[in-house]
This record gives sequence, C-alpha cells and structure tokens, in this order.
Amino acid sequence: MIGKKFGRLTILRISKEKHDRRGAFFVCRCACGNECTVRRDGLTSGHAKSCGCLQREAATKNCLKRTIHGDCRRGKRTKEFRSFCSAKDRCSNPNIKDWHRYGGRGIKFLFVSFKQFLSHIGRMPHPGLTLDRINNEGHYEIGNVRWATHSEQCRNRRKMKVSKRMLAALRINIKKAQEALRLKRLRSQSL
Ligand SMILES: [Zn+2]
Repeated sequence: MIGKKFGRLTILRISKEKHDRRGAFFVCRCACGNECTVRRDGLTSGHAKSCGCLQREAATKNCLKRTIHGDCRRGKRTKEFRSFCSAKDRCSNPNIKDWHRYGGRGIKFLFVSFKQFLSHIGRMPHPGLTLDRINNEGHYEIGNVRWATHSEQCRNRRKMKVSKRMLAALRINIKKAQEALRLKRLRSQSL
C-alpha cells in the first residue's frame, strides 16, 4: 500500500497511533501539502480522495457560482451569508445532522435569494446571534425570521412545546365537544 495513490492522497506509512476495529489507518500526503490520517477502507472505497481540500474547493466554487453579491468572495463568507446557507441546507440536505428538525419535518426555506433574505432581515446587529424562526413551526420566510440570541431561541422552542401540549389538550376538548354534540343529536332524534 505504501506509495499508492488515491485521488490526491499518497500513502506515506501505516499509522502507529491510530487504528480501530475496522482496520488500519494510513498517514497520507495530500497534493495540497497537508498530511492526514485515513482508514484503509476510506481509501479503498474511494471516499477519501483528499485531506478535505477537495470538498473545501468544491464548496467555494459552488458558493461563487451561485452568488454574485459581495457576501461570498473567494470563500470568505459573511456571517449573514453563512446563516443563510446553513439554514437553506438544513431544509434541503438530508445528509445534514439536524435535517430531521428542519427539512425532515416539513420546514421549508422560502427565500429566493440572499439579496431578498438580507433586505428583509438586515445585517446581524451584533455578533453571536443566530438565525431564528419566530414561529418555530413556520418556514424560513418573510415575516418569520429574526436574529436571536441562543437563550431567545431556547425560550422560543420551550414556548412551542407548551403550545403543542395545549394543542393536544384542545384536540381532546374538541373531541369531547363533538361527542357531546353527537349524543345530543342522537337523543333529539330518538325523541
Ligand atoms: Zn489537501
């Protein structure tokens, strides 16, 4: 295996420090100059082709391709643009960790462009804020987004949990009322 090439990676040596149940790790040199340690099956399956620089380049290229504004130049993205991109991803990319909480449960990203998004929400007033949906059950859309602190987001989530419970109680009440109405009708019919 030593000296063999997989994409941009050339195997230098077997790793002495790293190994696990699924096999040996190899220390590789990437064409970009970085060294990285990759498991054997990562290389043989074709998953590992670089130290990560390939994905970074692709992401930058992709980003440049779809944007013409100044918020994404040469991979330097503003925090507003990063929030925009990751929210969009959470709604459209099932491979993302939090997909089940967003796209996976029907939350949609309805802004048509970064320009539209930015002119609606404005710049982040101070750093450390995150993109929040005002109504946690609603989409990323005009009227339902704001910059919020982490604790504001948590509060919002908690609030929605309570209202979900209330909704459940309301559903039970509606059922009870419907049942009462049904019985009343039956009674009046039999009279
Ligand atoms: Zn590399």
